Amino acid sequence: MIQKIGVVGAGQMGNGIAHVAALSGYDVKLVDISRDQLEKAVKVIEGNLNRQVKKGKITEEDMKAALARITTDTVMDFSESDLVIEAATEDEAVKRDIYQKVCPTLRPDAILCTNTSSISVTRLGASTDRPGKFMGMHFMNPVPLMQLIELIRGIATDEETFKAIREVTEKMGKTAVPAEDFPAFIVNRLLLPMINEAVYTLYEGVGSVSAIDNAMRMGANHPMGPLELADFIGLDVCLAVMHVLHDGLADTKYRPCPLLVKYVEAGWLGRKTGRGFYDYSGEHPVPTR
Ligand code: NAD
Repeated sequence: MIQKIGVVGAGQMGNGIAHVAALSGYDVKLVDISRDQLEKAVKVIEGNLNRQVKKGKITEEDMKAALARITTDTVMDFSESDLVIEAATEDEAVKRDIYQKVCPTLRPDAILCTNTSSISVTRLGASTDRPGKFMGMHFMNPVPLMQLIELIRGIATDEETFKAIREVTEKMGKTAVPAEDFPAFIVNRLLLPMINEAVYTLYEGVGSVSAIDNAMRMGANHPMGPLELADFIGLDVCLAVMHVLHDGLADTKYRPCPLLVKYVEAGWLGRKTGRGFYDYSGEHPVPTR
């Protein structure tokens, strides 16, 4: 039975995973190489839990109990964890290095999961001492708000592991969708080519930024337009996923739009840099084309 969860990486995803796990009753050990990131993560978790209290979604006691279940550390000792979820930087060498450090501290029956968006789960699992007890647990951003977790079996993942992680997903109040281990899984395989096509539509002059976003919001009932969504995800991340699809599936239909490449070259990465398809320097986002 899984009771204690380790989380590696206290960035955007790691803090969300720690938040949801602690609120679901798991003891959480959050580890990062950076003390600053850990401190920042705890503040973000506190702020987000507070917001849930104000909205009446959880009680003040739930918040206090959740915060009391989270400990942080810069040392990768997970000897007490039943499950470790790795949510560190999307870099295969970084992840492999983390597994080399984590695995020797794990009990033989402990499960290791990765939150990778694009690296082969099978290949990552093969670099550990426990490919049968390794799989992908792909949370969506922002973790506390999004209902889905894609569960990805590597070719060696055993059924017992998959069942245990499905139970954790349910206990976290999330919905599991099984996906096979192919580039970008399901959500990003469908979403990013749509965003890339929206950039082509802009590039070819079919529509302006607001025309394209309005068209998809009002014509397809999407809550956000594709270009707005691209700015939210980060244009560098969008481009990286298109490269993964293009390289991994060797099909020209996944070629990244040259305009997307240009924006990334300019450092116009979306909300996080203050400019992407919209300019965020004023009170309201202003379309840039
Ligand atoms: P992030 O940059 O916000 O956080 C990464 C964290 O990893 C940082 O705090 C960094 O200090 C830490 N880190 C780096 N090297 C480390 C090491 N050796 N040991 C311990 N910690 C280390 O990144 P993120 O957006 O949270 O993404 C994390 C993972 O989640 C990636 O694999 C990414 O593909 C995946 N993911 C991201 C999203 C998203 O929308 N951002 C969605 C789903 C999955």
